[in-house]
Amino acid sequence: MRSIISIQARACVHSTVRGKYRGSCAVLRWSSTEARQWSTPLAKQLSEAITATGPIPLAAFMRMCLTSDLGGYYMSKKDGRDPFGQKGDFITSPEISQIFGELIGIWFVAEWMAQGRKSKGVELVEIGPGRGTLMDDMLRTIRNFKPMASSIEAVYMVEASPSLREAQKQLLCGDAPMTETSVGHQSISKYANLPIIWTENIRFVPSDQDKSPFIVAHEFFDALPIHAFQSISPSDSAQETIQTPTGEHKLTPETAKRQLKSPQWREMVVSPTPPGATHADLHTPKPLQSSIAPPEFQLTLSKSATPHSLYLPEISPRYRALKFLPDSLIEISPESHAYAQEFARRIGGSKEAPKKEPSGAAIILDYGPSDTIPTNSLRGIREHKRVSPLYSPGLVDLSADVDFTALAEAALGASPGVEVHGPVEQGQFLLSMGIKERAEMLMMGLKEEEKRKGVEGAWKRLVDRGGSGMGKVYKAMAILPESGGRRRPVGFGGDVEG
Ligand code: SAH
Repeated sequence: MRSIISIQARACVHSTVRGKYRGSCAVLRWSSTEARQWSTPLAKQLSEAITATGPIPLAAFMRMCLTSDLGGYYMSKKDGRDPFGQKGDFITSPEISQIFGELIGIWFVAEWMAQGRKSKGVELVEIGPGRGTLMDDMLRTIRNFKPMASSIEAVYMVEASPSLREAQKQLLCGDAPMTETSVGHQSISKYANLPIIWTENIRFVPSDQDKSPFIVAHEFFDALPIHAFQSISPSDSAQETIQTPTGEHKLTPETAKRQLKSPQWREMVVSPTPPGATHADLHTPKPLQSSIAPPEFQLTLSKSATPHSLYLPEISPRYRALKFLPDSLIEISPESHAYAQEFARRIGGSKEAPKKEPSGAAIILDYGPSDTIPTNSLRGIREHKRVSPLYSPGLVDLSADVDFTALAEAALGASPGVEVHGPVEQGQFLLSMGIKERAEMLMMGLKEEEKRKGVEGAWKRLVDRGGSGMGKVYKAMAILPESGGRRRPVGFGGDVEG
């Protein structure tokens, strides 16, 4: 995830941008897991599982690497540190400048005003809150808008990592105790007597037709697992078997016949590299070879269909159109679709259970293309450097581009009560939210020149459209109650109203 930025928190800035990784397609050979020394316990476990069931989808590999209880990237502190900041692996916008969170807070206030200033039933929900910095900056800002602040009934934090949950609790609640509840954990905000509730998935956040959820997901979607597919022409693709977790099975004669006639999708799958394989054998891209051992895993194209390759690329006309262009590559993140659907249903209700009055808003900030389908976008980051995503499972941050159009499609398909605005470039969003003016105000209050320079470097970094800036690659997209297109939200071409 994240363009990597080797900078100190909330100060000035030097950076490297995450690039694309092309998975090597070295031929799969089986290896014994017995004698081999694995870099992490998770690497050993993955290799044993793959030896038992065959190569696994990239999504399964990514999920294990990021959130496995056995040393997943987010699940434990590495050498006592979390992933963020100069000592960590990367840095994110809220950690660069407090203004980022302040403006997201103001965006919610503007939405709350535009939706009739509800006096109760407002919930703040953050998905993947990292160190909790964004929510802290938002709460501090919203506190200044008393009528909205008093309409907030609870803050929900959706967080998979126990150690980050603890860090968030320290920042938001100080020494207040944290108790276990039926949905997760709970404490009390230091700002007001506001309950802060942690769950591991948005599904556990209570859903109530009368509530107005204001949801933010910053650099969350890029951490969700992706499936990757390539279309192959009919002559290469005729297969009579399908690869499943229980091994290879014969296809029905009808499916096999259909496959003979038309191009097919094949899924990228992960398997251990042969013992002793070198970077050259594995075709590791040169920039990713630096001073680290060759990756222990490799990406190959499944030689037969998988349950995912038969199903996922058929769910949208965007993917179906590419099937007939041989060698097309696509990435699909079903978990991301599920989250976008969940946001939409909570704001707008569903066809089965329409909401009396759609209300609330979601803002998604992340990186990825505005309208194309991501390809070859999996990347690994360690200590502010790009490394192979197939290296040292659990020690490397994995992320992939977010498919904003797919999120919009998922949201609109899930709820008749919502509309989607954007994506717009982060630079454009933040500038129209007043980042420059806010930074100037902050700088006026600072006596030391160095600190003023820090604030200036940071805000410019967030909006810079150049190679090392975050203004262009990062995008903002909003899901709002349906208004027949009559109202545009602030930051997306609209004005503050209400
Ligand atoms: N929004 C923060 C952190 C981004 S890092 C910031 O911008 O600084 C991604 C965050 O999502 C981390 O808090 C990580 O623990 C969490 N996360 C990653 N995968 C998750 C999952 N599947 N479910 C819930 N949280 C997840």
